[in-house]
Amino acid sequence: MKKIPFVTREQVEQIAAKYPTPFHLYDEKGIRENARAVKEAFAWNPGFREFFAVKATPNPYLMDILQEYDCGFDCSSDTELLLSDAVGAHGDHIMFSSNDTPDEEFRLAAELGGIINLDDITMIDSVDRVLGGKFPETMCCRYNPGGVFAMSNGIMDNPGDSKYGMTKEQLFEAYRILQSKGVRHFGLHAFLASNTVTNEYYPKLAGELFELAVELKQATGADITLINLSGGVGIPYRPDQEPNDIRAIGEGVRRKFEEILVPAGLGGVRIFTEMGRFMMGPYGALITKAIHEKHIYKEYIGVDACACNLMRPAMYGAYHHITVLGKENAPCDHKYDITGSLCENNDKFAIDRCLPKIEMGDYLYIHDTGAHGFSMGYNYNGKLWSAELLLHEDGTVQEIRRPETARDYFATLDQTPYYGKIKFDKAGC
Ligand SMILES: *Cc1c(COP(=O)(O)O)cnc(C)c1O
Repeated sequence: MKKIPFVTREQVEQIAAKYPTPFHLYDEKGIRENARAVKEAFAWNPGFREFFAVKATPNPYLMDILQEYDCGFDCSSDTELLLSDAVGAHGDHIMFSSNDTPDEEFRLAAELGGIINLDDITMIDSVDRVLGGKFPETMCCRYNPGGVFAMSNGIMDNPGDSKYGMTKEQLFEAYRILQSKGVRHFGLHAFLASNTVTNEYYPKLAGELFELAVELKQATGADITLINLSGGVGIPYRPDQEPNDIRAIGEGVRRKFEEILVPAGLGGVRIFTEMGRFMMGPYGALITKAIHEKHIYKEYIGVDACACNLMRPAMYGAYHHITVLGKENAPCDHKYDITGSLCENNDKFAIDRCLPKIEMGDYLYIHDTGAHGFSMGYNYNGKLWSAELLLHEDGTVQEIRRPETARDYFATLDQTPYYGKIKFDKAGC
């Protein structure tokens, strides 16, 4: 499927006149249409809720848009909880699906009334310590089946090698202990494969969790009220990939629900999801300008963004499609490495990529950076974080996060004698 940018060169020229590149740009229209489709796909389950994985795109303006579709938030740190609190999400609009959790973070999660999802059986003791033995009425446990997670088209992921969740035995034990501590309602959670581009992942996962829920209920008598399918629903980063059809996915989960849960008397269970990538990925782009060309043993185009703005290609060789704006229909008859300015040779957005001929000043649209893009940023080489901009449905643009400045970067040195000697005005701030 041809990957089409949600902005034109003319639009970007206008935006860049006010907000210099690089920046992450988000498409409000796309976010809304998709959020609506997700809600509709699971409307058969009256208790359904999507908890947007805050780590994917921790921006309150975007979180606020999702709230209009009844989304809650999946958090795994204090700062993510603070952000959810700031947009007014509380109670059963917060899932706290953390791991290796510092005791203190359970306190804030509980204070906000969020649903705590225990990654490990030992965390029962942590919660006990932090909350002085007063457990929330509802708690969730994360399951790891071990082995490999395979579907009809092969092995999807390797839960046996993953640090998350409890073994089956531990899960039964955890439910029993939690019951003895006064927990009344239970949830079950698992995240077994990442960025799946197939409509079968959620239904397959749901089938396994539903069967496990029936077993758990029979063995412990626990009142299971929610099943959380977590994240993992992917997007087509590559043009040759077929996008997921969220309606087919919702329908697949419904079939398993009616086949397994309803006959077991569990027809009242709420289905939760914690999608990040699927909710936001395609609706964000990193916009960057070509500023250097270099001809040595290969052809390089240097841009004004770097891996600090988008780490996925450098970190796991992830493919991000690139469109040279204004040259959407030009032949891709040049082969380039597209690089950033870090003193790290893996700072490349693309390697041996066939693109139209790039002139200096051309704008490159790096696709699908709306999730795990900006948020994975870092400050290596003293590079500063870019702005985040929101393209509204009426075509206007709002700066929803300003670019970082040298003042921000050095702020944690403010207690040292050097701070006063930093000539911020020389860096334009
Ligand atoms: C990262 C994460 C998600 C979101 O994953 P996506 O692949 O972005 O959908 C959901 N839940 C948990 C617990 C996560 O760690």
